[in-house]
Amino acid sequence: MKVLKFGGTSVGSVENIKKVIAILQQQSETSKIAVVVSAVGGITDKLIEAGELACNKNPDYVVKYNKIWSIHNEIIEELFKNIEDDETVLELQTELVENIGTKLNELRSLLNGIYLINELSPKTKDKLLSYGEYCSSTIISYILKALRIDAALKNTQELIITDSVFNNARVIFEQTNKNIKSYFKNQKQTITLLPGFVSKSTNGETTTLGRGGSDYTASIIAAAINAKEVQIWTDVSGMFTTNPKLVKQASPISELSYQEAIELSHFGAKVLYPPTVMPVLRKNIPIVIKNTMKPEAIGTKITSTKKSNGISPVTGISNIDGIALLTLQGNGMVGIPGFSKRLFETLAQEKINIILITQASSEHSICFGISESDAIRAKEAIDTVFEFEIALQRLEPILSETDLSIIAVVGDNMKSHQGISGKMFSTLGKNNVNIRAIAQGASERNISAVIHKNDVKKALNSLHEQFFEIKTKQLNLFITGVGNVGERLIQQINQQNAYLKKNFKINLRVVGLSNSRKMVVDEDGIDLKNWKSHLNNGETASLNEFFNHAKNLNLRNSVFIDITANTEVAYIYPKYLKESISVVACNKIACSGDIHYYNQLKELSRRYNASFLFETNVGAGLPIIDTLNHLVTSGDEINSIQAVLSGSLNFIFNNFNNNTSFFEIVKQAQAEGYTEPDPRIDLSGIDVARKILILARESGYQMELDDIESNYFLTEEAMKSNTVEAFFETLKQDEGYYQKLYEDAKSKEYQLKFVAEFANGKANVGLRQIPEGHPFYNLEGKDNIVMFYTKRYPEQPLIVKGAGAGADVTASGLFADIIRIANN
Ligand code: ADP
Ligand code: ASP
Ligand code: MG
Repeated sequence: MKVLKFGGTSVGSVENIKKVIAILQQQSETSKIAVVVSAVGGITDKLIEAGELACNKNPDYVVKYNKIWSIHNEIIEELFKNIEDDETVLELQTELVENIGTKLNELRSLLNGIYLINELSPKTKDKLLSYGEYCSSTIISYILKALRIDAALKNTQELIITDSVFNNARVIFEQTNKNIKSYFKNQKQTITLLPGFVSKSTNGETTTLGRGGSDYTASIIAAAINAKEVQIWTDVSGMFTTNPKLVKQASPISELSYQEAIELSHFGAKVLYPPTVMPVLRKNIPIVIKNTMKPEAIGTKITSTKKSNGISPVTGISNIDGIALLTLQGNGMVGIPGFSKRLFETLAQEKINIILITQASSEHSICFGISESDAIRAKEAIDTVFEFEIALQRLEPILSETDLSIIAVVGDNMKSHQGISGKMFSTLGKNNVNIRAIAQGASERNISAVIHKNDVKKALNSLHEQFFEIKTKQLNLFITGVGNVGERLIQQINQQNAYLKKNFKINLRVVGLSNSRKMVVDEDGIDLKNWKSHLNNGETASLNEFFNHAKNLNLRNSVFIDITANTEVAYIYPKYLKESISVVACNKIACSGDIHYYNQLKELSRRYNASFLFETNVGAGLPIIDTLNHLVTSGDEINSIQAVLSGSLNFIFNNFNNNTSFFEIVKQAQAEGYTEPDPRIDLSGIDVARKILILARESGYQMELDDIESNYFLTEEAMKSNTVEAFFETLKQDEGYYQKLYEDAKSKEYQLKFVAEFANGKANVGLRQIPEGHPFYNLEGKDNIVMFYTKRYPEQPLIVKGAGAGADVTASGLFADIIRIANN
């Protein structure tokens, strides 16, 4: 004999009930079956809501009641519509409508009673809840009859006997087993239908087995009759590696041990009601979890002899929400036995279930996790019991924190693998998930942590990635500024993503995009093929709202990327870093502005374990800052730096001669995108000054922009011009001056280069005449060059050279920063 249990969704619609019937027909061909059914999906919740409304004197309970009535009657009508109606079928339908009608009238009277007396005791609540399972089992039994499928309906309340702890009654197994055995001994029909969840106390009153209790009903029956198997038919294809509602990548676990199933279900895997395992474990009866909507999926088999999946010592990760953490602490506890005994006795008397306990070895405090709904009661009871110690200040009044959740990593094989907890906590730490308490069972089958409820999704996703997808790391990018460079970066991400996933196990997702007008955020990743239209149809851009999205989504490995030249954007980085969101800046303002701000960003990056990278601030895509950082972190010291750091000035002086005009060449450089939109920033030397400042700072020198000696080569008029147009006018007027600069250098066979130098804590920038043979002499096009003279490279410098401007190379520099974060 087998026991099959169908959950609320399975009996929640006509379509699903048809699937249930197909499963019953198929399974009853080879074996007798007992079929336990839950209430129609959502009905138990509605019964509770109606009861609470009535109890609170809110007449809307009638609306809820009407809904319960119509849900059932619609199902009946639809089901019978699908059956060829002869006289018997019509009679059955009428009988069923009457039967359910009478029962629901009774429910209506009960609700009226609750409304009148303004009270909903646990006892009445159980009576109220029992209507759900009564209706579903009755409806299905009539449908089977109408389909001429041989089936009996037995009221479980006549079989399962409990104590009188209403809402969560404890089964009295001796009597229950006897009842079940004797009933099934004489039961000749192939299919026996039974309502789940409901039971009766020794006094004959209706009790229930706790929310989700139909699973338990099935296992109690299976154990009593020594069934071959219990099947839990639900709306997912088994027990998943973690909560599939919160983690898309979760997948069904094909085999579990009883112990693992107990741990996972106790720690929140709702698919199996925790007490379910116990009765069948003793008899070694397997539990199989199957999907009614997808019966072909193999599901999860729970046995005492499961095989290891061979991939990870972790079998599953679960979460329980609605947790309160209570802490009892005080000097009076140290070394004095009996405190915990009194504490836990008090909780036991109050019938409060403790989910997790930790005690510091100093014995100065005990911390325990309970359901939030018990928190007030627990605090009152404990404060009363320890009133005397609290008055003497040996103990502090109990501290209660709410809005917490527990996450648990579970696996039989964890004990033989070192470093699981290390991996667990470093993964949580890296993602800025603050851990409030930790517990590890002596069996080492479970490590659990208490965290804030808002962090649960991120924690589950990052742990799942760590233990089950170890190989793929997902980065969630929030990009602001989608001009030339931004557009190229998006192109590069789109083009490289498949390659990165396959070869480097890195998955880049652009979750947020913004320009100065619009922004768009999509938790599932923006479709990069159509990003422009998504952005155009997005919301109005707001720096703060963009940040709020990133913060509230709370995704693991989030990165904010600034591809603007905007001051306001540069000043929002601290907000991101404080949420452990890494920052990649193309924008130079933060690193070349006030030194305190630069230091603050570095400090925040360290403190919150979030990268702050800005390789493209100097030399576009060239690995200049990265090289410098490697030198410094490996203990080298920078003696001096000589560099040509302006791709645009290099382009200008490489192309300017007595056959061209200075004005034309600057115009061309601007048109080809080698200068900043405002070319004065390049030609005044300020851009180069900022770059050498950044290199000096990265070399360990606390310098400000004012400390850089800036020798400009433009005319006074050009320096004073207020607009870009006026600036270009001066270039035209002063052509003679610029020609003279050229002629002077030419006559000595020198090349003009705009050079930046740093040595002995001082830096300067200016136009230089470079003789033949110097490494700067042959610098082509818009190239940059940096020469690092260091303790380890005293005479022959370490040189980095290559294209130092242009949208494509800048985008690839940003890309490199993103990959650095992925590899971190
Ligand atoms: P039923 O009504 O069939 O008893 P439940 O809602 O009680 O179904 O349990 C199934 C649900 O459990 C799934 O839809 C899923 O949302 C939730 N769940 C939570 N954790 C897990 C997990 N680890 N594996 C599978 N399902 C889980
Ligand atoms: N109907 C009950 C509940 O919703 C029991 C169950 O579905 O298992 O809790
Ligand atoms: Mg359930």
